[in-house]
Amino acid sequence: MNHQNLSWQQQLSNAFSNITDLCDYLELNPAEIFSANASANFPLRVPHSFVARMEKGNLNDPLLKQVLPIADEMQTFPGFSADPVGDLAAITEVGVIHKYHGRALFIMTGSCAINCRYCFRRNFPYSEFQLSKQKQQQAIAYLKNNPEISEIILSGGDPLLLNDHKLAELIAQLDEIPHLKRIRIHSRLPIVLPARITSEFIDVLKQSSKQMVLVVHCNHANELNEEVKTACDKIRAAGISLLNQAVLLKGVNDSAEALHALSEKLFSFGILPYYLHLLDKARGTAHFEVSEVDAIALMQQLRNTLPGYLVPKLAREEAGAAAKTLIF
Ligand SMILES: *Cc1c(COP(=O)(O)O)cnc(C)c1O
Ligand code: SF4
Repeated sequence: MNHQNLSWQQQLSNAFSNITDLCDYLELNPAEIFSANASANFPLRVPHSFVARMEKGNLNDPLLKQVLPIADEMQTFPGFSADPVGDLAAITEVGVIHKYHGRALFIMTGSCAINCRYCFRRNFPYSEFQLSKQKQQQAIAYLKNNPEISEIILSGGDPLLLNDHKLAELIAQLDEIPHLKRIRIHSRLPIVLPARITSEFIDVLKQSSKQMVLVVHCNHANELNEEVKTACDKIRAAGISLLNQAVLLKGVNDSAEALHALSEKLFSFGILPYYLHLLDKARGTAHFEVSEVDAIALMQQLRNTLPGYLVPKLAREEAGAAAKTLIF
């Protein structure tokens, strides 16, 4: 069935979760790639809408590489650990992380619509985390008592997996905090499940008196198709700023051409490139790593060929730092 006739909730439950089905659809031979071990703890999960943007028969498709479990994930490498960012214990204890000046981050849910193989979530039972009513009240109280916080970041997992009613309720509570200027949402859904951006959802955002920023996560120009464009147009028409964060991934976007095309396409969709993250060194992701030296060389090429506002900041997340560490 054509996914475009389904609601976002239906598309979510219809996502590919079985390698054989995915290979059938993409005309690939599962014997060539299948790694039962790699998917045991962190299963395949990818919505049809995203798979429809992959090239059939191409094992090296940059979108496929982000979601396909492969044997390389089973290798261990020094320096690649279960909790590279040093956050995860804290995340499940409380719903709010206040590490950076002026900004606090709410973990709304641990779930995602897609399982990206390079994600640090892969090593945790994190998907079971939900911000309970009680934790949400504690988090709101924390914000109220900290007037230095002017921006709240709704994050996850993916906060847009929550239904509109829950989001509306939370946003109404945030609206009542006078020192809060901005609500920022970090979500990959406008890219991987653009049907999530319904007019009802846009109405929820428009109810708020705060400025809204939506930071999407897109790694390759091929992720940006007409469905995504429609979603972005709706978001921008509501006066919401759109930014992108990407992860620099070997075999996916580690060339000047790919990064250049990504920035150009993002801007044509009304999205500004914000961060390009170096990989978090999570166990099972070493085959995606691009060295810092190579990353800087790529950034230099981008700087030489793009306007400054289309060059993302190259950053690394370091445990205990007061901000993201800027590399370039
Ligand atoms: C990344 C991050 C932020 C946001 O940082 P910006 O540089 O403002 O995008 C805030 N809090 C935490 C804990 C983060 O990891
Ligand atoms: S959408 Fe983001 S948080 Fe979710 S699996 Fe992908 S990288 Fe991880």
